[in-house]
Amino acid sequence: MELSGSAFYRKIKQVKDILLSKIILLAAIILIAGCDSKYSTETKPLQLTLQIQDPNTDHIITNTENVNSANVGVVIVDPWNYHWCMTACERVSAMVPRWNRALEVARKLEMPIVWVPSDVVGTYSGYLQRERALGVELLKVPVVKEMPQAIFTAPVGKCMCGPGINCIVNYGHDAINPALFLGDNDFIASSTEEVYTLFKEKGITHVIYMGLHTNMCLYGKPGALKYLWQTGLKCMVARDINDAFTTYDPYKGFTPDKGTQQTDEDLERAGIPLINVVEEWQKAGLWDENWIVETVRIAPWGKPDRPYFFRQSTTITLTTPWLKDVDIRYTLDGSDPTNSSPVYQKPLTISKTTNLRTAAFRKKNLVSVPTSAYFVLLPPEPKHPDIYLDNLNYMVDPYGQIHPGFVWEPKKGTSYEELPLRIRGKLYEKGMGFAAPSAVRYELKPEYDSFVAKAGIDDNMLDNHKGCHLAMHCSVVFRVFIDGNLMAESPVMRISQEPWPFDVKIPQGSRYINLVCMDAGSRNIMDLGNWVDSGFCLK
Ligand SMILES: [Zn+2]
Repeated sequence: MELSGSAFYRKIKQVKDILLSKIILLAAIILIAGCDSKYSTETKPLQLTLQIQDPNTDHIITNTENVNSANVGVVIVDPWNYHWCMTACERVSAMVPRWNRALEVARKLEMPIVWVPSDVVGTYSGYLQRERALGVELLKVPVVKEMPQAIFTAPVGKCMCGPGINCIVNYGHDAINPALFLGDNDFIASSTEEVYTLFKEKGITHVIYMGLHTNMCLYGKPGALKYLWQTGLKCMVARDINDAFTTYDPYKGFTPDKGTQQTDEDLERAGIPLINVVEEWQKAGLWDENWIVETVRIAPWGKPDRPYFFRQSTTITLTTPWLKDVDIRYTLDGSDPTNSSPVYQKPLTISKTTNLRTAAFRKKNLVSVPTSAYFVLLPPEPKHPDIYLDNLNYMVDPYGQIHPGFVWEPKKGTSYEELPLRIRGKLYEKGMGFAAPSAVRYELKPEYDSFVAKAGIDDNMLDNHKGCHLAMHCSVVFRVFIDGNLMAESPVMRISQEPWPFDVKIPQGSRYINLVCMDAGSRNIMDLGNWVDSGFCLK
């Protein structure tokens, strides 16, 4: 394949970015390995409390399993760094503080930890944890008992953001959540055979499942609960470290936390036991009560680098499923929550762009890791222009005029990749396709009254295996300058966001307008932004 000048440099940049990210990951692994070696490990006899429910009466039944910690394995399913639903994505991060501590204790107890990240396992080629799992001589996986069929009753929505603007499916995830510690002696596996063999070699009899989504991947992916259960290993699910993919309906008071709780109870009714990992580690005397590991969860859950867009208003629910007797306190102006901030009483309805910060307090003491969310009110739809940009001549940066190829010139009437202009699945006939970072200037005429446009990420990439491993990286900011003055800008735009509307009044006597499609920090080859239905309204 021959690459044009700009495509060649973009390719070089992408390779550089990937190398840099690998170096950072390697540094993190070395650091974590260093942390691991500080701890002495010691196996312990455990008395695990397993809970199921009578399917007819919902009566809770608990059983005690006596097992040495060295015979217990941990499997972690799909703790990805990104999810096409922003709320689902942030809910992984919400579990990370508890999760890391729980795994730290599991490693002290000499429990083997096997990560099963499915779609993103390819990212770990060459990692010692992955190669070690691939190196085993696989055993044949026996099927000695039937897996009980769990009937999942929690409603599943388009996404977990609720009744407003939903997220659209893509497969952008490309790694494990970077805040989760990957231990030096852990394993990364991709098949039931690998997990089964690793556990058999180590004499594992009991397996604790963590991860998500409980009603989908944790249940049925290769290496997941369903398949290991059938081998006869005693499998259980960590009640405090799993999340189901359900929905958020503030009108009915249905939260993603309720969805997870309902899903866990569905497992119990099928006879699949759950345990509370933190309670188990408390019983083993290895849990420090001063560890702050819980977060206030937010629905819906956008962030400044991936905002939740809404029209008119949106209703926010805050929850702390693993903290009792606390006040959830919050601020709506971006300031840190303190023990005198307002106490959350009921769902909050907001009607303007809001930076929410929240934390839980017991009496006056902070007892959660603070969390935050960002909600952006979409401005009204702009008018269509009288003169479209497609019919005007633009100027690129003066350097690019002398040395073409060193600045990325936009395409008229198509995406940068010369495909139909498409934002959030909708096609646009008129507009300009940019690759960030780039800009074009237009001369302003006295008869121009305003500049109008919509701008968003081109989503043609979703046609190729739903943007697999790529869609998470697109992020741009659109800006409008007139004679050097910033007149308007979009929030950070991500894949499948509603296009951002622009309606910019042009001051008398202005000379030039500069339309910018900026990189928003990811420096990624897929930062393709479209200005559509863009141009000038006449006086
Ligand atoms: Zn969503």
